Amino acid sequence: MNLVEKHDDVIRVRFAPSPTGHLHVGGARTALYNYLYARRQGGVFVLRIEDTDAARSTKESYEGIMRGLRWLGLEWDEGPDVSGDYGPYVQSARSVLYHSEIDRLLREGKAYRCFCTSEELDAMRVEQERKKLPPKYTGTCRCLTPEESEERLARGMPYVVRFRMPVEGDVRFTDVIRGDFSFANAELDDFVLIKSDGRPTYNYAVVVDDAHMRISHVIRGDDHISNTPRQVHLYGALGFKLPRFAHLPMILGSDKTRLSKRHGATSIDAYRDKYYLSEAMVNYLALLGWSYDGKRELFTVKALIEAFSLKKVSSNPAVFDPAKMEWINAEHFKMLPQSRKIELVYEVLEKEGLFPPSFEVDLSRPVDLKLVPGKEPLRVEAIGDAERTYAKEIPRLALIIDALGNRLKLLKDVPDLMGYFYRDDYVRDADAVLNHLMKKESSVRLAALADEYDRLQYFDRASVEEALRALADRLELQSGELIHPCRVALTGKTVSPDIFWVVVLLGKAKTIQRLRAAAALGAEKR
Ligand code: GLU
Repeated sequence: MNLVEKHDDVIRVRFAPSPTGHLHVGGARTALYNYLYARRQGGVFVLRIEDTDAARSTKESYEGIMRGLRWLGLEWDEGPDVSGDYGPYVQSARSVLYHSEIDRLLREGKAYRCFCTSEELDAMRVEQERKKLPPKYTGTCRCLTPEESEERLARGMPYVVRFRMPVEGDVRFTDVIRGDFSFANAELDDFVLIKSDGRPTYNYAVVVDDAHMRISHVIRGDDHISNTPRQVHLYGALGFKLPRFAHLPMILGSDKTRLSKRHGATSIDAYRDKYYLSEAMVNYLALLGWSYDGKRELFTVKALIEAFSLKKVSSNPAVFDPAKMEWINAEHFKMLPQSRKIELVYEVLEKEGLFPPSFEVDLSRPVDLKLVPGKEPLRVEAIGDAERTYAKEIPRLALIIDALGNRLKLLKDVPDLMGYFYRDDYVRDADAVLNHLMKKESSVRLAALADEYDRLQYFDRASVEEALRALADRLELQSGELIHPCRVALTGKTVSPDIFWVVVLLGKAKTIQRLRAAAALGAEKR
């Protein structure tokens, strides 16, 4: 097979996570840039699981990473669960290949077996530390003759396979983002290719796999720059053409240190659990190191695919800014069609235990109960799963979302902004209750308002507004003097959507009940 020719005609990129933890922000950004590059160039996006570290790799992590990528919409063309011509796509299933390539390197004298024991290696390290030298394998076994090596092998002595690093000269490569690099070979040691348990090391397996999977561009975090010179040597020794390298800038927290748990959530799952929109997450991740023109910040996935280029990836570290991400999320939420908003809000209400509602409201009678003018009447069937048990609640939910308007920016605010429409145990703002309800005069006013509402035949928005304003006139009050305590009585807050919509959407029975309960609160006060 000729690995060299294939490189130039097809763009093939890969995301190669080690399944040792969550899919985190940095990994997801790497996956996204690979995905965008592949889609933009009409190339192939490969997912390869690098599980050579058996002790740290777990099935949960492997599944979690795939779940996270799918949630972000970063579908791969070839991978562990998608067939392709270059599989298997999990390193633990590729050991035959690693061994056949190592045999080749051993035969050609480009690698050698090292029988040094861990005690000998420790002694070497201690000696180097004492002499203030950088830790490096001193090459004891480098000079073993093939016969000596075979003899030790026959005796069953444990060994690793090391790369025979040239002692002189240097190694160079060009990075698409970072430019030219040069490392002195003397600084690179005879690194291990195969460990004593027979497993390949990362540096070795990654080269064998990238070459055999015809990867044309290696796009990954810049923490791998220091590995690249060793890998470049391996490409040469194995006779493979070098791929292009593109090392992505580090992601920092607000204090300019490397992004970590100290800066808050770093796993993609955590953002999904906080109800971030996957399309907003993708948009924000794209901006962590890449910019279109320094101005435009809002992109759909489709627009990112059209706009993305490695040339515009910065070599400077990116700073993860949760506030910016929240803003992008809110902007994406605003852009959603109403039916999608309803579907998402429904799911949040369900997950937060607010659905099914603890009380139901009959909205069939009010005359002006229709969707906001200019909007299509809502069809329940348009909302995803029409079989939902509480599909009958959806028209009210649609109206609640409309009433909230731009107040609803983030799905994580749904319980706080909407809880009172579904449960009686919603959060009440203690100051609002104290200032607006714990007073004799509000008690009298709210009791009077409850009586007015009780008498209403039609509980539509116009009727409830008219009733309140007429009562205010009769009591010689400003409307606000009734509206404010009414709002706190019904919602527990001093801010809410249009109060008359709140009254209608809470329904007659619940409104009256809450007004009377609030009136009782203030009854004893002066
Ligand atoms: N498994 C490596 C990691 O998770 C991949 C590095 C690479 O892309 O070469 O860091």
